[in-house]
Amino acid sequence: MNALRDARHWVFDMDGTLTLAVHDFPAIKRVLGIPQEDDILHHLAALPAEEAAQKHAWLLEHERELALASRPAPGAIELVRALCGRGCQLGILTRNAHELALLTLQAIGLDDCFASADILGRDEAPPKPHPGGLLHLAERWAVTPQELVMVGDYRFDLECAQAAGARGVLVNLPDNPWPELTALHARDCGELLTLL
Ligand SMILES: [Mg+2]
Repeated sequence: MNALRDARHWVFDMDGTLTLAVHDFPAIKRVLGIPQEDDILHHLAALPAEEAAQKHAWLLEHERELALASRPAPGAIELVRALCGRGCQLGILTRNAHELALLTLQAIGLDDCFASADILGRDEAPPKPHPGGLLHLAERWAVTPQELVMVGDYRFDLECAQAAGARGVLVNLPDNPWPELTALHARDCGELLTLL
């Protein structure tokens, strides 16, 4: 835990980590005709090009409305501002689209803490749990993946961290269902900040 205090390179999941979770994935799947057990992005990737394009367009519009109405998760502003103030390098790795990640960060007032090129969305990196996004940021920042900390609210974030060799921090769940994937579990970003 104390080793995290010295970490200088932090990557955040966005939805449900820095913002309150608002995506209603079952409803999105119903509208797009995607079986509930399927992964949305994987399902769309396997569709004929025209149908995939139409459904991606719907998804983008729906997510744009959610982005504009984003609210910060407890302690997220304070945590990111503190790390930013310490001169840490900060990135975002999200399954959302890059432009919507920018809109979301603007909506919660954190856009000045992240360089645009350090915000990796679904068109800039393979979807988590694939480690490609973290490896890309490590290369961009000229550090080893082991120096990265990945903060997220879901198993994919932690698996992504493990696959890259980075440390995974779980927030925004009362209990930790994945201790084998987690370097640290904090109730929320506010509690995480008190540990750093
Ligand atoms: Mg999330």
